[in-house]
Amino acid sequence: MTTTAVPGLRDQLRDLPEEAFTRLQYLAPAVGCFNRCAFCSQAAGRDVWPFTEHGLTAFVTTLADVAAERDLQIASGRIHRPRVLFPYLDNDIASYPHLDTYAALARDVLGVRFRVSTVGYSARSEPLQAVHQRLVNELGDVLDGIRFSISPYTIGYAGRGVGMSRQAYSEDLAAALATYRPLLDRLGHGAATAACELRFAPLLGLGELIDTHIDGRHVLSCGPHLLIALQPGHEPLPETIIDGLDERTQPVLSRPRAPYLHLISDTAPLDAATVRAALTGTLVLPHRAPDGAAAPLQQRRWPLLRR
Ligand code: SF4
Repeated sequence: MTTTAVPGLRDQLRDLPEEAFTRLQYLAPAVGCFNRCAFCSQAAGRDVWPFTEHGLTAFVTTLADVAAERDLQIASGRIHRPRVLFPYLDNDIASYPHLDTYAALARDVLGVRFRVSTVGYSARSEPLQAVHQRLVNELGDVLDGIRFSISPYTIGYAGRGVGMSRQAYSEDLAAALATYRPLLDRLGHGAATAACELRFAPLLGLGELIDTHIDGRHVLSCGPHLLIALQPGHEPLPETIIDGLDERTQPVLSRPRAPYLHLISDTAPLDAATVRAALTGTLVLPHRAPDGAAAPLQQRRWPLLRR
């Protein structure tokens, strides 16, 4: 029988290069996530393996000891948010039952702050709610920032789990926001400090595009949408490329915008009579402008992008 002796934690940490301490960024006290968000880039496993409170304390104090032996400061050598740890990778840190202990260890033992990013947590769990309340009341200064990711892809929002529902998810989220409100206000609202990020699917629809010329004008039709070039011509669909962004971070286009008339109608046929009536404001069939207003139709300048 072969026996392999695994070095103790302290010796394993002593074997690590300096950068493992000074460039440390992700220190997650759990792996796996039961939220099963459809968009999860980490493909988090459904089983959650968290550190116990004792295990977390033992690991963090040993890490700090070994860093001190070598005169290294945790996370001090990073350009991006130095001295700040990210306690999440393929886990949702707000569901970690010892987050308050993590915060206290971060502050008192490692001398760092940390960020929280979460899709929310079960405010109905009294122990977990107590952890968050303590974090807000007593340990808020350890938080560098917090982000609530509000998305329809979590198991709670989708109501895909036993006993889960959209209603319960919404109530939990509302309770979490109410709990964190004083801390969010203190951190200051902003993407890097305290934010709610809405992660919903873009309002995109798919449909067949008809790219044609009618009555001497370029016309595009897709579903109920009709775009009619205001300038006559027989040019094909103009190609426009975004060359970059200007000083106001607005796109700089490779060609001038082309003015098109945009109308929405379920009944207007795609023919010369519709085009002429639309351009002269005499279309009698039911239609509306893109912003929902009834006629008169709106003229828009569209950068038609095609690659
Ligand atoms: S909560 Fe975060 S870690 Fe968990 S599945 Fe969703 S995106 Fe992934």
